[in-house]
Amino acid sequence: MNLRTRIAIWSNVFNISVLLFFAGGMYLGITHSVDEGINNRLYSTAEATYYIVEKPISSGNLVIASRDFENILRAFLGFSGAEGYVRIVRYDGKVISSTQNVFFQDLKLDYEDLKVLANNREILRDYPAPEGANEKRVRVIFYPIVVDNKLLAYIEVASSLARLENIQNSILQILLIIIPVTIAMLNIGGVIIFNRGLKPLSILSKELKNISAKDPKKFPQWDKDDEFRELFQSINDMLDRFNKACMQTAQFSADASHELRTPLTIIKGLIEVALRSERTVEEYQDILVSILEEIERMVRIVEDLLLISKSEAGEVLIEKKEINIKTLLTELCEHLSLFANEKNIILNCCDIEDITIMADALRLRQVFTNLIDNAIKYNKENGKVSVYTRRENNGLCIYVEDTGIGIKEEDIPHIFDRFFRADKSRKREIGGAGLGLSICKWIIEGHNGYISVDSHYGIGTTFKVWLPIS
Ligand code: ADP
Repeated sequence: MNLRTRIAIWSNVFNISVLLFFAGGMYLGITHSVDEGINNRLYSTAEATYYIVEKPISSGNLVIASRDFENILRAFLGFSGAEGYVRIVRYDGKVISSTQNVFFQDLKLDYEDLKVLANNREILRDYPAPEGANEKRVRVIFYPIVVDNKLLAYIEVASSLARLENIQNSILQILLIIIPVTIAMLNIGGVIIFNRGLKPLSILSKELKNISAKDPKKFPQWDKDDEFRELFQSINDMLDRFNKACMQTAQFSADASHELRTPLTIIKGLIEVALRSERTVEEYQDILVSILEEIERMVRIVEDLLLISKSEAGEVLIEKKEINIKTLLTELCEHLSLFANEKNIILNCCDIEDITIMADALRLRQVFTNLIDNAIKYNKENGKVSVYTRRENNGLCIYVEDTGIGIKEEDIPHIFDRFFRADKSRKREIGGAGLGLSICKWIIEGHNGYISVDSHYGIGTTFKVWLPIS
């Protein structure tokens, strides 16, 4: 079922319910007030009749001729006799006086009714109208005439309910016409409003169909200043992000295959050279060592790629425990100083605060190994690497500073991108696929910290890692 049909059904259900509620309320309200009017008239006629006839009856002067009775009522009450009748009935059922045009000849009250009347309480009751009458029902009030706690007689006032029934029928007929016409009008109006309101959505779906991954063109802007403008803008932003992600994924796959293809090509070449002619054992050993180096390189790349894809899928957890930064960094410097000594580089690791923070020791070790390793790798002969800490903004800053080759200004924004290497041709000798810094960034951000770089080409580079202390 499409949206249009669903909204049409729901709005019709709602509209019909509101109309029925409204119509029902109106019907009941009008009926009730007419009904009340009839009751009041019956009651006041009965009460007035009581005052006219009470005295003569209590003094035993019971008989009033029908004609006189009707004339008295006409004179005193303005009784017309058109819609009803009045009569006085003795407690034993004998009619004492009556107007003409009586609907019911014999409306006998039972013992229980007489008991109610004897208690000076009136009875109001509807009776089916006699055969052949226009109306369906007749309402009758029985009004007691009690003297000295004894029921002498009662006044029976009847009124036709034809007026009430006519009003009810008229309202029903009007509603039967008004409700369907109103619903039809609401539906026509609804369709017009719906079509106009959903026009942007039709444009949206048409434009979205035209967008393909191969040709991610810009989505049109919505020039009217309404809610759709925001939606169109959000879709444009989402498409930008989507395009960027697609490009990054494509770039990532291309870079990954390129990085893996280079060592594989070298291995292939080495094996071909080994097979071309017979060689000495030493020569074979040299070739095998070179192959092993390339394989180790590929293993590192694959491990890094695996870590990156797992971290993106949220599968790698940062498990924080209390660790002492001084112990961690001093130990690391000790290990890496061997590597630094080979290049006559001084690795200085003295100015480190003795502080404990909550962090994942294994991951932090990975970060600083990479930073110090880079500071040594991209350094000059007799250069210097300093590792030191400072307190800053409720956190600890760990600096890795070198006097190395530095990074060109235009390369600095890309330094944390995957597979980025400032100088692609030279870096193969040094090693590294350009994944280290992007992994560092992910790990530090996973600790709610940040990593930044400050570098001067040809002079040196300083990496700053900020970690929260608490
Ligand atoms: P790699 O494995 O290539 O070292 P990284 O992600 O660790 O990968 O570094 C990316 C690039 O950033 C390096 O190839 C290098 O060009 C540059 N770089 C990183 N650290 C330094 C540094 N201390 N001095 C100069 N260049 C650096």
